[in-house]
Amino acid sequence: MPTQASTNLSVSDRILAGLSKLSLVMRHESWRAAGQRGLTPTQAQILSILAGSANPIGPKEVARQMAITLGTASEAISSLVSKGLVRKATSETDGRAVVLSLTKPGVREAATASAWPASMVEAIDALPESERTGLLRGLIGMIRTLQEQGAVPTARMCVGCTYFRPNEYPDTPKPHHCLLIDAPIANSDLRIDCPEMEPAAEEVRPKLWSVFVNGQPLDNQGPGHRRSPSKSRRFNPVSK
Ligand code: SF4
Repeated sequence: MPTQASTNLSVSDRILAGLSKLSLVMRHESWRAAGQRGLTPTQAQILSILAGSANPIGPKEVARQMAITLGTASEAISSLVSKGLVRKATSETDGRAVVLSLTKPGVREAATASAWPASMVEAIDALPESERTGLLRGLIGMIRTLQEQGAVPTARMCVGCTYFRPNEYPDTPKPHHCLLIDAPIANSDLRIDCPEMEPAAEEVRPKLWSVFVNGQPLDNQGPGHRRSPSKSRRFNPVSK
């Protein structure tokens, strides 16, 4: 029998309670998996970030993406260097800057470190397709708001990308368009961490979001224009 207090909980309260439980599982699994390989979760996450970076990055950028201090990032990077998983080099474009790259064993370790906990994958896969897609859209909205508050580092999401054309083909299974691959994309294809993402101009981002949420194509308003769905695909956004 639910208590008065539990029935008074708002939907937001209950969603947050659910997210808190999921975060416990994620934390527990990442400690367990990283520990088995002799890494800390921070070190494992740094390997994943380096593996997913389209361009060479240094300790500062690693710290920014993880929302940790430069000191904490530098300490974890030094451990990874001494384990032979990461190498430091001088940047080719800035002689004073250090860039990081994975060694061969580091590439192998990063592939394992980037794998999501099997229990979480199973739990998400058990949801019906429509609920998975709704969850993805909800998460994108939450991450975007948190980004605007400065509470999380900038994510490489479609909804802030210069190549994204939301709702170009309304009422179709693939309503959006990615100019980079020049192909329509479905809601379930939307990316949260796309290595090819290029941030859209600041003044364009609210428009992209509004069109994404409200379902109206951009037409002649700002960036983008209507196009016929093309069959060409240079890469598959779902496979990355
Ligand atoms: S798939 Fe990548 S490149 Fe294409 S719109 Fe999304 S973030 Fe941009």
